[in-house]
Amino acid sequence: MAVINCPGCSKKISDKAKTCNHCNLDLSELDSEKIAGINHVNLINKTQRLMNYSFIAMLLFCGGFLFMFWDDVQPGGWQHTLAMVSTFIGFVMYIIIRGMLLFTKRKAS
Ligand SMILES: [Zn+2]
Repeated sequence: MAVINCPGCSKKISDKAKTCNHCNLDLSELDSEKIAGINHVNLINKTQRLMNYSFIAMLLFCGGFLFMFWDDVQPGGWQHTLAMVSTFIGFVMYIIIRGMLLFTKRKAS
């Protein structure tokens, strides 16, 4: 069972449902072309979400990196460690999300 967005009210519903339980749209009349359109929109939404995550990861990375070279931050201090951890997590997150984006886009085409 997959979750799709209702074409009528764009709320999340089951693809097995015959009618939308939010707006009572008759889903049994949807043809495969419309379903494909919905899936395409879902894919775009997913890509958009991943883009947002990658932006957060980028912020973590850049923020941590800049913080490491801040005037008050001494190497070996907890702030320096925190900055390094943030940079590392941001970097790893970014790589993973980029990989997922690539995979999602390949599936779409
Ligand atoms: Zn609906």
